Amino acid sequence: MTTADLLPAWGRVLSGRRPFLSVEITKECPLRCPGCYAYQPEHLPDQTPLRRLSDLRGRELVDGVLALVRRYRPIHLSIVGGEPLVRYRELDLLLPKLAGLGIEVQLVTSAVRPIPRPWADFPNLHLVVSVDGLAPEHDRRRSPATYARILEHIRHHQVIVHCTVVRQFLSRPGYLREFTSFWSARREVRKIWFSLFTPQEGDGSEERLTPEDRTRVLRELGELRTFPKVHMPQIVLDGYRRPPASPGECAFAQLTTCISADLTTRITPCQFGGRPVCGECGCMASAGFAAVSRYKVAGLVPISGILSVSRKLGATIARLGHSPVSASKGRPAGESRKNRKVAPTPHHEVGTH
Ligand code: SF4
Ligand code: SF4
Repeated sequence: MTTADLLPAWGRVLSGRRPFLSVEITKECPLRCPGCYAYQPEHLPDQTPLRRLSDLRGRELVDGVLALVRRYRPIHLSIVGGEPLVRYRELDLLLPKLAGLGIEVQLVTSAVRPIPRPWADFPNLHLVVSVDGLAPEHDRRRSPATYARILEHIRHHQVIVHCTVVRQFLSRPGYLREFTSFWSARREVRKIWFSLFTPQEGDGSEERLTPEDRTRVLRELGELRTFPKVHMPQIVLDGYRRPPASPGECAFAQLTTCISADLTTRITPCQFGGRPVCGECGCMASAGFAAVSRYKVAGLVPISGILSVSRKLGATIARLGHSPVSASKGRPAGESRKNRKVAPTPHHEVGTH
């Protein structure tokens, strides 16, 4: 993540919009991962359990997601769940349409079922496969999406492996290096991302990292950058070291709209829902934005301040009906497709995919 990554997003902010959209396209998932926040009672407003939400299928789901895209006009769409592959038939219809609209799409999955082969042809599609540790731990945590299944199901694809680091992975030295060696050697893997477990207020789970754990993990992640496939820019490490103090200070949360499986319910304050502990945030995208937004333009004005003013300005412009977004293309004037970039927005941290 660099300051340049913020520029396309900025155009959206100035038009009164949030540039990133994240949609839980289904409430269903065959996994029961420890630490999954999507099925925690506090994930959705009013403690509505995700599994009680009425989700959509078939043409209704395809049209519903396209309607959201038309409404929010994001530059980046994150498709999550539940398990999105449960709706692979609908995705077969939806993905070509999103490719036609020129939107960068990130699909976060456990790879519990085969990823359809034609999806490899979409240049705008980024497949993110969640792998929580080495095979013994992963298979225990994420059955039936075992290592064997993942390796079989990603055979025809180029994927990003995403690991959420939890306390259990620190029980023996060299664990993260072993993990990285294994996945770096796979030709189907083009990148490896690491995020850290993000607790909710009052979380007493075994996954939660202590401050000492966090320091150790960040040191180890810095060392793992010698593996070319590990994507861990210094700016993200800096963001992990100094996460936002609250959702109000989180640029990523301010720039992203998160919607659950009925395609109506908003998830707040960020993709985690509930009351996440920002001071222990392990979201890679948030870390990147946190560090970038502290950067001072001309050594004077922090980008966070410019974004905040831009948001207010954008909202006012939008209220007055003078959006600078081009009606025909859905993109701010001057923003070409070429200069758009994909933000790493691993939506579901531990467990969730
Ligand atoms: S992404 Fe992290 S820092 Fe941002 S609001 Fe959520 S928990 Fe807080
Ligand atoms: S973490 Fe993802 S794959 Fe695991 S139970 Fe939650 S939604 Fe399903």
